Amino acid sequence: MSKNKSSESVKVVVRCRPPSRKEESNGPAGTIVQMDLRLGQVILKNPRAPPSEPQKTFTFDAVYDANSKQRDLYDESVRPLIDSVLAGFNGTIFAYGQTGTGKTYTMQGAWLDPEKRGVIPNAFDHIFTHISRSQSDKQYLVRASYLEIYLEEIRDLLDPNHGIARGLELRESPDTGVYVQDLTSCVCKSIKEIEEVMNVGNQARAVGATDMNEHSSRSHALFLITVECSQPGPDGRKHIRVGRLNLVDLAGSERQTKTGVQGERLKEAAKINLSLSALGNVISALADGRSGHVPYRDSKLTRLLQDSLGGNAKTVMVATLGPASLHYDETLTTLRYANRAKNIQNQPRVNEDPKDALLREFQMEIARLRAQLNHRKWRSKQKKEPVDGEGWERDEMDGEEDEVEKEAEEYVKLEEQRLEREKEAIRDDQYLLAEEKQRLLGEKEKMMGDLRMEQQAAEQLTAKYKAMESKLLVGGKNIIDHTNEQQKILEMKRQEIAEQTRSEREMQQRMMVQDEETLELRDTFTSLQQEVEAKTKKLKKLYNKLQTIKGEIKDVNDEHVRNRQELEQTQNELTRELKFKYLIIENFIPPEEKNKIMNRLTFDQEEDQWKYQPLVPAESKSSQMKKRPTSAVGYKRPISQYARVAIAMGAHSRYRAENIMFLELDVTPPNTSLDRSAGADPNQSPSLDNSPTKEKGVRKSRSCPSSVSN
Ligand code: ADP
Ligand code: MG
Repeated sequence: MSKNKSSESVKVVVRCRPPSRKEESNGPAGTIVQMDLRLGQVILKNPRAPPSEPQKTFTFDAVYDANSKQRDLYDESVRPLIDSVLAGFNGTIFAYGQTGTGKTYTMQGAWLDPEKRGVIPNAFDHIFTHISRSQSDKQYLVRASYLEIYLEEIRDLLDPNHGIARGLELRESPDTGVYVQDLTSCVCKSIKEIEEVMNVGNQARAVGATDMNEHSSRSHALFLITVECSQPGPDGRKHIRVGRLNLVDLAGSERQTKTGVQGERLKEAAKINLSLSALGNVISALADGRSGHVPYRDSKLTRLLQDSLGGNAKTVMVATLGPASLHYDETLTTLRYANRAKNIQNQPRVNEDPKDALLREFQMEIARLRAQLNHRKWRSKQKKEPVDGEGWERDEMDGEEDEVEKEAEEYVKLEEQRLEREKEAIRDDQYLLAEEKQRLLGEKEKMMGDLRMEQQAAEQLTAKYKAMESKLLVGGKNIIDHTNEQQKILEMKRQEIAEQTRSEREMQQRMMVQDEETLELRDTFTSLQQEVEAKTKKLKKLYNKLQTIKGEIKDVNDEHVRNRQELEQTQNELTRELKFKYLIIENFIPPEEKNKIMNRLTFDQEEDQWKYQPLVPAESKSSQMKKRPTSAVGYKRPISQYARVAIAMGAHSRYRAENIMFLELDVTPPNTSLDRSAGADPNQSPSLDNSPTKEKGVRKSRSCPSSVSN
């Protein structure tokens, strides 16, 4: 079955829930699902088909009927996976099925009833019990995150502001693969703490939803647990193994009805279907094995589960069914989906010493704090006993911690008492001046303050160190295992039985396949009559098989047609909407504006969105735009050459803004011997009026008398 040594197929189990009260009232005839627990088979009856039509049979790794217990499903099908996660593999469990068939019941169950606790709480128990029973040279760090994908948006359910915050982005790194950026992750030290995380997330999920059932049927919930384990290897160095567990409660697999919905609602329905149909396409592409391209990038869900489907992970899929005949089509689709998923091959491997191990960071931080604390204690010890301070740096803190702390406290107390005494002595000293007394008292106060501050700093450091260290769980130390020996033996026995059931079923299935193959070889015929009989029987069998396959082809064809019709309908709706948008653009946006916008738009593959490019000026103008005028040093703002000269020149008339024509005229009259009449002429008085007409007048009056005299 496996292609190479390290590859293994996705395990698929099917579970059918008991009929609801309403379904029960329809009587047993309404039930269409039968199960063969021994062989791991589901037999589906088509309520509309004639009785002659053969029933459909599907074989899975395990099947669980209405009477199955949560515990059985866990022990048989989930426990081995969680054990692998604890050993450093990636693991994924996802529940797939129509709404109301028991996905949430299987994953979470009823928390308060121990019998009805689902996969997730059982996994919590399993992980922390494992840690408490492991050897003390192992250190563990357990983290949990909780997110949901709703309308192709990732929401962090542990973020208090998740209702208003924007959806988180997916990123990809070569070391860790696809991850969610800025996702909250809580370090959990016990079952109680991790349950608390789960509850907080569940409440956050319910708060945003108007109708929880409706909401949960449209969103995918992912609970992620990371278990890091550090253990000294044969080379003496500590090696870290990281196991990541994804617990996925998918949205209801039923088709979202699209008939009659438009606009936002239509887009919503399309988006809800997107992740699940992308998941289906990924499964088909992987199961087929021939097509090179696997469309992981088509949706957020498939990108997140990329490793779980065909990658580095062990995967269990729980397909849930309802027994009612009403949902025959959906049940058949679920079974087909699950049947296809069986063929996916994964390549799980242990994640050894990955670069992003948080445990390594924690260990380093703890070592740093410890060194700081040691140094501090060594210093205070030195102060106390100035001569002998050796050996402190190499001190092991374990065990002596409390003692050392007590010692430090005592030291501070003694020191305080000494200062108090000294203060008293200063107060009582009658020979000191009042000022001097005040000064000395102040000094002592300051010393006491310093002492207290020092102590506070030490306390803070110790608290930080303790908090950090308590986050790391040491095998068999931090968590007390309350189960007694008898219970432990009981648990072991139950696990053994589960293991046995599983291997028995595998054997049965293998035998069945072999039976069919060897049927021919065993047949030896004694008479012709016998041969005819045997061959007729075989013919009938083969004919039945042919009918089954024909029926299957018809089903697949029908489904295909249904799918196509739906896609066509969606396409029509979308085209209509597009036409509407075009109409608005063509008629209400000026063409040049439209072109400008179109030229600026580019498609971002990573974020799956159109984006505006930033505005840049045209090439020719760019130098003009970019160059700023160099402002003169010492001036508030850029200043022109002209203005600078003007300032330097002071009140020079040339640089005056006003009174440009300010002329200081010589008021003394011209005194020449030739011009005798000048003094006598009353018009000769110098005029300050400098209008051009007047000037002409003046000249005229000057020249006239001379011409007269000549
Ligand atoms: P889903 O999450 O698939 O929409 P739920 O888990 O909410 O469905 O289940 C619907 C109802 O059926 C719940 O009331 C649940 O208690 C009940 N139910 C589902 N599976 C089982 C089961 N195996 N045994 C008993 N009750 C079940
Ligand atoms: Mg649910």
